[in-house]
Amino acid sequence: MEKKSSGKRPLIFYYAIALLVLMLINTFITPQLLERQVEEVGYNDFLQMVDEGKVETVSMESDQIRFISKEDGKEKYYKTGIWPDEGLTQRLTEKNVAFASEIPTQSSPLLAMLLSWVFPLLLLWGVGTLMFKKMKNLGGNAMTFGKSNAKIYAENETGKTFSDVAGQDEAKEALTEIVDFLHNPDKYADIGANLPKGALLVGPPGTGKTLLARAVAGEAHVPFFSISGSEFVEMFVGMGAAKVRDLFKQAVEKAPCIVFIDEIDTIGKKRDSGLNGGGNDEREQTLNQLLAEMDGFDGKKGVVILAATNRPDSLDKALLRPGRFDRRIPVELPDLRGREAILKVHAKDVKMDSRIDFHAIARATSGASGAELANIINEAALRAVRQGRNIVLQEDLQESVEVVIAGYERKNAVISEEEKRIIAYHEIGHALVAAKQNDSAPVEKITIIPRTSGALGYTMQVDEEEKVLMSRDQAVNKITTLTGGRAAEEVMFSSVTSGASNDIEQATKIARAMVSRFGMSERFGMVALEQVDNLYLGGDTSLACSQKTAAEIDEEVIAIVRQAHDKAVEILRQNMQKLNELAQYLLERETITGEEFMDILNG
Ligand code: ADP
Ligand code: MG
Ligand code: ZN
Repeated sequence: MEKKSSGKRPLIFYYAIALLVLMLINTFITPQLLERQVEEVGYNDFLQMVDEGKVETVSMESDQIRFISKEDGKEKYYKTGIWPDEGLTQRLTEKNVAFASEIPTQSSPLLAMLLSWVFPLLLLWGVGTLMFKKMKNLGGNAMTFGKSNAKIYAENETGKTFSDVAGQDEAKEALTEIVDFLHNPDKYADIGANLPKGALLVGPPGTGKTLLARAVAGEAHVPFFSISGSEFVEMFVGMGAAKVRDLFKQAVEKAPCIVFIDEIDTIGKKRDSGLNGGGNDEREQTLNQLLAEMDGFDGKKGVVILAATNRPDSLDKALLRPGRFDRRIPVELPDLRGREAILKVHAKDVKMDSRIDFHAIARATSGASGAELANIINEAALRAVRQGRNIVLQEDLQESVEVVIAGYERKNAVISEEEKRIIAYHEIGHALVAAKQNDSAPVEKITIIPRTSGALGYTMQVDEEEKVLMSRDQAVNKITTLTGGRAAEEVMFSSVTSGASNDIEQATKIARAMVSRFGMSERFGMVALEQVDNLYLGGDTSLACSQKTAAEIDEEVIAIVRQAHDKAVEILRQNMQKLNELAQYLLERETITGEEFMDILNG
């Protein structure tokens, strides 16, 4: 078991530490904590104290006398040796001293029990749990002692405002009310309105959910407590729930404030019916505690809970009930205008050429998230520095768009002349097929410089305007364009290469979606045969039909792609001369613009 994780410490190590700690506690700390401060005095002092009426309780033991005296209202413990003394009993009775059978030497029997029994048991149990966890994720992240605390980050001022978040106007609008509520909770309390206790930010990764949450706290000038759902997962059993309690306790003290739970899906997954054999106890306990806390605290106090997730479909229904995260705020990928705005926000921190056309960059980055756009600006700045400039130019931005899409250029990759020819024809094949069909996006750039992502070349098409719908024709056109690369190899070299694998994958995906989800095939019509599992993370699908239908879907998909491919071959056969001319040109230049391409194409 340990061979696999050779870098990690064996379990015995943890047991040894636990034992050592126990021994240390027993020898050094326990006696000090437990034993009373008992002062030893002479017998005559004892008698004197009795006479002065200070002694309250006495107990005779076989070898010593213990007694408690009261001095300045405080109990003090003493002991003294045994002395033959006939008159002692009478003396004590006269002074009203109480006789006790025993004066305990330990300050608190409860503490004693805790220290000598409960604590060691807890420690052993903790190590046991650790072992259990370790066994469960062998090879995964074994936890260390230092990590056993979930980190709650508390910031008094996040320093972010809505102006740091570009686009996302709907989300901001929905959150403005919360900001107002935090500004003056009394206004809402007066009229008896309950603001939602929680709002759930939902959207793909990198769209600014975390940023928005921090901006809400910044706008409202309230403290911001944040914790990530994944922090709970790595802890001892029971700690997650304790942490949630702790979090809410702190938050209520600091109200008004924001509590932000990032990646809430890690603890808020649907609870399922014991199929996991209790393996998820910890998560479930944490979730239950969270639900209890949300129900428990007074919404009028001004604690607002925000949470973020990119897997809303997997959340437990209980979380979404009224009184909990009943407000759901979509934070979608930015549209054209949003992308331009995000680019501009991030460009503020960078020295930019004043003539930069952000609109063009926004157009070329359809589907990019805010995080990716921020990254594009940064990559451009890095490129400018590499080139020894102190200002970012348009070309830096353009290049960094491609870096983010396809990886860095591999300028020194060795590719034979023959292969280069094949790649050039392949790319021109895509471009030519695209150009010869109506309604496909104009070609922006064609290149046969390989990239670190593994792309040997690519054809960049940029839609003139943002599209939210795709017609059947457009879908077919897209597939046809995708098959154009392979088609060019066939008509030119009468052989095929592996270079089309990515095209094939994409074409199949579109064709499949047409049949199973878009209702674009005659055979099935408008029936949903597949469902999207997690919309925001790759959009994987699963079948929702019988085996037989699944086989028929495959047939249908094959037919669509085959037809598109035939069409592409035909287009290229009719334009052999242009294909040759363009491929030759691309081979010489390695990169050509859309304009150059159109010029040659149109003679
Ligand atoms: P999420 O939490 O949705 O995964 P983040 O809020 O962590 O995304 O965003 C990551 C980074 O991307 C932010 O720090 C910010 O730099 C950038 N970003 C994302 N969306 C936006 C936006 N709408 N406006 C400005 N910057 C954004
Ligand atoms: Mg985030
Ligand atoms: Zn291709």
